[in-house]
Amino acid sequence: MRRKLAAGNWKMNGLRAALSELQALARAHPDPSVDILVCPPATLIVQAAALVADSPIQIGGQDCHPQDFGAHTGDISAPMIQDSGATSVILGHSERRENHNESSALIREKARTAHATGLISVICLGESLAQREAANTLDIIAGQLSTSVPDTATGLNTVVAYEPIWAIGTGLTPSTDQIGEVHDFIRTRLEKRFGSGVGLSIRLLYGGSVKPDNAADIFAVSNVDGALVGGASLKESDFSPIIKALE
Ligand code: 13P
Repeated sequence: MRRKLAAGNWKMNGLRAALSELQALARAHPDPSVDILVCPPATLIVQAAALVADSPIQIGGQDCHPQDFGAHTGDISAPMIQDSGATSVILGHSERRENHNESSALIREKARTAHATGLISVICLGESLAQREAANTLDIIAGQLSTSVPDTATGLNTVVAYEPIWAIGTGLTPSTDQIGEVHDFIRTRLEKRFGSGVGLSIRLLYGGSVKPDNAADIFAVSNVDGALVGGASLKESDFSPIIKALE
C-alpha cells in the first residue's frame, strides 16, 4: 500500500553542470514503479524542476524557514521552494540539527509550514554513535519522532527518514537487524499516535551510506519503504542501480 520512494539529497553539491546527471536519471527512468525524488541545492531547484517537468521525477528542497516571508536574510521559505517547482522538502537533517542548532521543536514548525504550503516534508531522525553505544537509540528516536513530526502529518504529506548520524558519509551501515528494529519502532509509534490509517501510510526511509551494493539488503528489511541517499545520488550511474533495487 505504501509506494516506495528513492530520494536523493545532493546536500551542498552541484553546480549547473551537475544537472546533466539529473537529465541522465530522467532518461534512465521514464516510467519507474517507485517514486523518485531529487533534492538539489536551492540554487538549482528552478532549473532542475524544468528539466524533469515531463518526467515522473520530483524535485525537493533541503530545508525551509518556519515562516512564509519576512526579514530573514539568507533563508528560504516553503512557498518559495514550492514556487520554484519543488514538491517536497527535507527537514531536520542531522547536518542542520548539528551545524545550525536546529531543535526538534523548530523542525516541527517547519514541517507545519511545509504542510500548509502543500509540500511533502521528509523529516529526518537519527542517533549519534555515542547514543547508540550507550543503548539510547530508541529513546532518542522516540523523542525526535514525537517532537519533530507535527499533528498535521498524513501519509500524503509526510515521510520519515531514519538516518543514524554515524552512518552518514562514513561507509558504515547498521546491520539489517538494527535497521529493522528502529523502523519497526517508528512504525509502532506512528500507529499509536495517528491510528493505523495514517500510521501505516507514512513512508519510512533509511539513510546513511546506501550504495548500489548494499541497497537490496536494506530494502528487504521490514518497514523500509525506500532510501534517502546522499553521496550515491550525485551520479546517475550510482543512483540508478539503487532505484532498480527498490523496484
Ligand atoms: P550518504 O548516503 O552520503 O551517507 O548520506 C546520507 C544522507 O545524509 C542523506 O540525507
